[in-house]
Order: sequence, then structure tokens, then C-alpha cells
Amino acid sequence: MIIKNQVKCNHCGDIIESKHRHDFVTCKCGRVSVDGGHAYLRRCFKEDNDYTEMSVCDSVCDEEED
Ligand SMILES: [Zn+2]
Repeated sequence: MIIKNQVKCNHCGDIIESKHRHDFVTCKCGRVSVDGGHAYLRRCFKEDNDYTEMSVCDSVCDEEED
């Protein structure tokens, strides 16, 4: 189960959190976005090192499980 669905943007330092399933949040520089809330982890980014994963799960997180 996903407790917190959030990442930190490595470019602008913004920490963004998707709080519910269709809560699509973009950092202030626009490079990184999160979506899915507590239902699934979805990230939009250009490069793998654009963001630092900061999500909190109480067990294994399955990506984009519907
Ligand atoms: Zn950013």
C-alpha cells in the first residue's frame, strides 16, 4: 500500500506529492510530475536522474497497478 506518493525534483528542489488517484502534480520547473495518489505510482520525467524517489510504502509498491 502506498502511504505517500512523492518525489523531489533534482532541478528545482520542489517536493511534489500526488494525494489522490487523479491528482497530477508538476514541480515548478515542469520537468517532473507525479500521479496516481495512493492507487499507483506514476512519474513523468525526461531523464531517470531528474528526480529523487521519496515515496513511502508499507510494503512493496507495484508500479501502475490498476
Ligand atoms: Zn522541478
